[in-house]
Amino acid sequence: MTDSTQKKKYKLPGRPKKRLFIGILTLTTVLVSILLYGIWYIARLGLAEIAEPLPMVVGALFALLSGGAMLAILNMVLAVKGWFYLPFLQRQTYELINVLFPVAVYVAKIFGVGKRKLEGSFIATSNLLFNRLGLKVPADRLLVVTPHCLQLATCPHKITRDPQNCKRCGGCDIGSLVTLSEEMGFHFFVATGGTLARQVVYNTRPQAVLAIACERDLMSGIQDVYPLPAVGVLNIRPNGPCYNTHVDMAEVRAQLEKIIIPKEQDNG
Ligand code: SF4
Repeated sequence: MTDSTQKKKYKLPGRPKKRLFIGILTLTTVLVSILLYGIWYIARLGLAEIAEPLPMVVGALFALLSGGAMLAILNMVLAVKGWFYLPFLQRQTYELINVLFPVAVYVAKIFGVGKRKLEGSFIATSNLLFNRLGLKVPADRLLVVTPHCLQLATCPHKITRDPQNCKRCGGCDIGSLVTLSEEMGFHFFVATGGTLARQVVYNTRPQAVLAIACERDLMSGIQDVYPLPAVGVLNIRPNGPCYNTHVDMAEVRAQLEKIIIPKEQDNG
């Protein structure tokens, strides 16, 4: 299936807004900081009875946590705006997201924003941070992983061990991805779950990963493989979750062209 036919056939997902995730995360950080201050204010006299410097130590620790979180968010804003930012703060940012995300989901709910939308916005932000790294890798050091639900459910060919078993009948997007992997030279695997995906990453030792999955799996996958740079492409689910899913091949190709060093420039 060509990219343009695909566009006509499926309703491609709209682009999630990065500012949604950053906005909710900022609000969550402010609320948690206020909560920490409240806890400190109530506990300070009791803490002083245990040891005189304790209120100051606990207060400084809480202030450090809140300040660090704000710095990580500010760094994300700078990156999104295309201004100078500190890429090494990415680990702290992911840790902050891990800790605050469950609270952020509740905060988002108050504003009528669903978890999936918030995760989609995280992926858009994370992809932007990835693209800002300007990373270029040889094709054979890039791993593309997709979930098993991308394969046509009725297809009899076993592609999870070897995608080359695909007959490229056009029934699903696996065939196009196998063809693209041969054309560009990247590693391509179809994983049945997160454990297998992590094992494939471990075995192939790539320099970068492009993952195709739903919001939830991309969100956890991108954070799981860190510090390995990973970019996500959302799948399309015209038949509901985890069943005969699709992917925007034009988006996959565009992202691959950004990451892979063209053959003529790759001397290594
Ligand atoms: S493209 Fe490959 S995996 Fe998909 S239905 Fe055809 S043979 Fe099966």
